[in-house]
Amino acid sequence: MKRRNQALDALFLDRDGTLIVERGFLADPLGVRLSPGAAPRLAALEGVKLFVVTNQSGLARGLLTWPQVEAVNAEVGRRLSRYRVQVEEFLVCPHHPDGAVPELARRCRCRKPGTLLHERALRAHGLDPRRCAAIGDKVEDVAAGLSLGMRAVHVLSGHGREHRARVVAGHPEALLAPTLAVALDLLTT
Ligand SMILES: [Mg+2]
Ligand SMILES: [Zn+2]
Repeated sequence: MKRRNQALDALFLDRDGTLIVERGFLADPLGVRLSPGAAPRLAALEGVKLFVVTNQSGLARGLLTWPQVEAVNAEVGRRLSRYRVQVEEFLVCPHHPDGAVPELARRCRCRKPGTLLHERALRAHGLDPRRCAAIGDKVEDVAAGLSLGMRAVHVLSGHGREHRARVVAGHPEALLAPTLAVALDLLTT
């Protein structure tokens, strides 16, 4: 069911391949490129809280450090702030079952399609998931949002084309969009 023109209180955006150009285990803030056209559209959203939810298995794999992940997130925030877009919170899962760093090498409920990080934000901000949307380039991103009752948009940037068939087969209620900018148009027009 494709529903539009609905109240939107918050967005749960994937970071890599969705909000920023996919770079693969991005450690360097200089590698941050915002998805083309997305920032002005985010700026046009009024009263919509913005959360970035990101699986950073590079932490568990020993390929990234927390300061690196935080530096990249801070740079994403800085780039968006030039458009007067404020990120409410960056929600990071550092885990992976096959990780190399012992304390992070485990199954968890926060790695998407797990929903622990979304649930915490919903609770902390008193949000109704039916008035929220999840946007991402992997099937796990839309699966997490949909399982909480959010609307979801699968973008074809990043790993989106590889994941498209799984999204269409497994989550036909997800909308499809070529980019985050178009996904935002779908949700708000
Ligand atoms: Mg992604
Ligand atoms: Zn986790």
